Amino acid sequence: MPAFSLDPTQTAWCAELRALAAERLRPLAEKGEPGHVNRPLVAELGQLGLLGRLFTSGAVDLCLMRESLAYACTEAETALALQGLGAHPVHAYGTPAQRERWLPRVAEGSAVAAFALSEPGAGSDAAALELKAERDTAGAGQVPVAEPDGPARWRLTGEKCWISNAPEADFYTVFARTTPGAGARGVTAFLVPADRPGLTGTGLDMLSPHPIGALAFDAVPVTAADMLGEADRGFRVAMGTLNLFRPSVGAFAVGMAQAALDATLAHTAERDAFDGKLKDLQTVAHQVAEMALRTEAARLMVYAAATAHDEGAGDVPKRAAMAKLLATETAQYVVDTAVQLHGARALRRGHLLEHLYREVRAPRIYEGASEVQRGIIAKELYATMEAAQ
Ligand SMILES: Cc1cc2nc3c(=O)[nH]c(=O)nc-3n(C[C@H](O)[C@H](O)[C@H](O)COP(=O)(O)OP(=O)(O)OC[C@H]3O[C@@H](n4cnc5c(N)ncnc54)[C@H](O)[C@@H]3O)c2cc1C
Repeated sequence: MPAFSLDPTQTAWCAELRALAAERLRPLAEKGEPGHVNRPLVAELGQLGLLGRLFTSGAVDLCLMRESLAYACTEAETALALQGLGAHPVHAYGTPAQRERWLPRVAEGSAVAAFALSEPGAGSDAAALELKAERDTAGAGQVPVAEPDGPARWRLTGEKCWISNAPEADFYTVFARTTPGAGARGVTAFLVPADRPGLTGTGLDMLSPHPIGALAFDAVPVTAADMLGEADRGFRVAMGTLNLFRPSVGAFAVGMAQAALDATLAHTAERDAFDGKLKDLQTVAHQVAEMALRTEAARLMVYAAATAHDEGAGDVPKRAAMAKLLATETAQYVVDTAVQLHGARALRRGHLLEHLYREVRAPRIYEGASEVQRGIIAKELYATMEAAQ
């Protein structure tokens, strides 16, 4: 795909996705319970073949899906994204047995996935995570031996917090500390089915209708067969997943911004004000122009980052961070301006903008807060400069 425009097939696909979101997904989303996994909605995403595409296409398609679904149904967008975030580590780093067991069910929407990295004491500084994976010798001989120096069996003990889809997911990609004091180099990723003994969780009530919760691990048993990637290399699994998903958080934001912009165009064109329409006021028209300008700039940066990802370019972390940062900050501005230009009606419960105003806030915090993205961009810039010297 050229970085700066969509081809006719992609444009038609996006229109089809927006229609599906409005006609097939929105009615299911409205029947869901805020704060809980909406399984009929996830199943419908599977039925429509959208979840399957998470594993057969790249970042560009992921972004187009997220942008288009977000335009008409943020709940469907988020349900799709979370299946991808939780299951991508299995797709990209899992063993054939793990992939065979879980990916078909994720793709059909019968198994719900989650990505468990954050902890109460480790959010932005994810490498400080403390959930312990301790070698368990009690079960020696009963489990596959992966290493010559002993049985590959651990017990997970600790907490995870702010985990989307928890505690209702069917499995979790869990990042645990296998080597104390080693920072990012001592983390291992495990695929933990929700029914493992010792794993419990509670839901958290958020500003937006996001299914999210905290998890408690009380000596949860895992074996080498549950590992995703290599021991102590789990941070790569996390960062590889985030490099794919960050531009797509930007795409989610662009979809919301476009919905807010279109609502504002319609409203300002028909709202009577001072012997004319709102749009006839130059200050209003200029605000609408600014909303459109910034939304389009963010969209281009998202497409460029996604294209760079799919082409295996060397500057993916920088582009992914830029796209996520610009698009999420832009969407906040656009939705807020849309609320202002609609006046009181935008704040009424159930109005599209009241919904978007609540939805647009969290993406500036999760998958790396805006400040963290700036840190990544600066680090990459200096590293590139030093490498060239
Ligand atoms: C709706 C929602 C869904 C989420 N889903 C998931 C999930 O599925 N899985 C998961 O693992 N986590 C998830 N999270 C957690 C999310 O990733 C963390 O909230 C995020 O990483 C920030 O961590 P924190 O909240 O602990 O904030 P902190 O790390 O305490 O940071 C607070 C603030 O401090 C500032 N700050 C922090 N570090 C820096 C820095 N280096 N430079 C400058 N300023 C800085 C920023 O303003 C930041 O917002 C979710 C969060 C939300 C809100």
